[in-house]
Amino acid sequence: MLNNTCRVFLKVGSDLQKRHGSNIAFIGLGNMGSRMARNLIKKGCSLKIYDMVPSAKAAIQGATPCQSAEEAVKESSIVITMLPNGPIVKETILGEKGILDSVSKNSLIIDCSTVEPSVEQELSKIVGERGIRYLDAPVSGGIVGAEAATLTFMVGGEKKDVDEVEPILLHMGAKVHHCGKSGAGQIAKICNNLILGITMIGTAEALNLGVKLGLDPKLLTSIVNISSGRSWSSDTYNPVPHVIPNVPSCNDYKGGFSVPLIAKDLSLAQSSALQCGAPLPLGALAHQIYRTMITNGYEEKDFSSVYMFLKGAK
Ligand code: NAD
Repeated sequence: MLNNTCRVFLKVGSDLQKRHGSNIAFIGLGNMGSRMARNLIKKGCSLKIYDMVPSAKAAIQGATPCQSAEEAVKESSIVITMLPNGPIVKETILGEKGILDSVSKNSLIIDCSTVEPSVEQELSKIVGERGIRYLDAPVSGGIVGAEAATLTFMVGGEKKDVDEVEPILLHMGAKVHHCGKSGAGQIAKICNNLILGITMIGTAEALNLGVKLGLDPKLLTSIVNISSGRSWSSDTYNPVPHVIPNVPSCNDYKGGFSVPLIAKDLSLAQSSALQCGAPLPLGALAHQIYRTMITNGYEEKDFSSVYMFLKGAK
């Protein structure tokens, strides 16, 4: 039996679905966006999709593929972007072939990419002047969370807009946190990924040491995971092949979260830290390690391949 709160929630959800569910544009269908878009489709949303790579669009069944971002956003009241970085998000919205002139007034752009907080503040202001609403809503959880619809959304922008789209975000994730005004979601995300970039290297470093000293990596991981060295990098996304299933380390580090993307996030942390005067000594070292991997053949690998890099293998 449903209680009254559930009924109200479902009614609000279904009203929203009627209002937004049939007209969502989704731009950027890579490792994360493809999985997020599929979860929206599974929940009954009808999507218009665009990615500059045709095969990325073809991989999404049950959506309407578009020839351009402009075509995708026409008559859409929600636009979700999941793109590599700030310059690409800016170009997609404000550029020559950008969506700014095609997005309807009062519609809502939700940028789920990880980018500079200042880019989101600038975009929010510019689109706001056209009567378009804007949220930064970066995510945590990786491809595992994107696949299972358990992502955490960290959102910056107007609270009423966050409340309005929360049921849609919950089709792709398990938690939605309103962090504050525009850009605040990105601040939370950058801080989270600063920890992630450092702990992944620490985990890889320790597991490589243990293996070289003769320990079985599965045994060592099981001990770490009930001890003080535990982290997401050890218990959910382990960098040693076949210690846990269905993570990029089991698949030759294909897919997942690429080394250039974690390097980008650590550069966002560095530039933000320069602005506010916070020291990031470990963040700086982690940044340089991932940058060195890029120039040593790891550009297309998942960032957990830092284990192989430290091991001296590719
Ligand atoms: P990805 O490189 O796999 O996907 C990006 C997609 O955007 C690609 O399909 C690419 O073709 C498309 N694209 C690039 N430029 C475009 C343009 N101008 N117009 C249309 N499409 C364009 O990246 P990803 O791993 O899916 O990450 C996307 C964003 O999410 C990044 O900002 C990343 O930092 C963030 N993120 C990634 C993960 C992860 O685990 N992969 C986790 C959390 C957040």
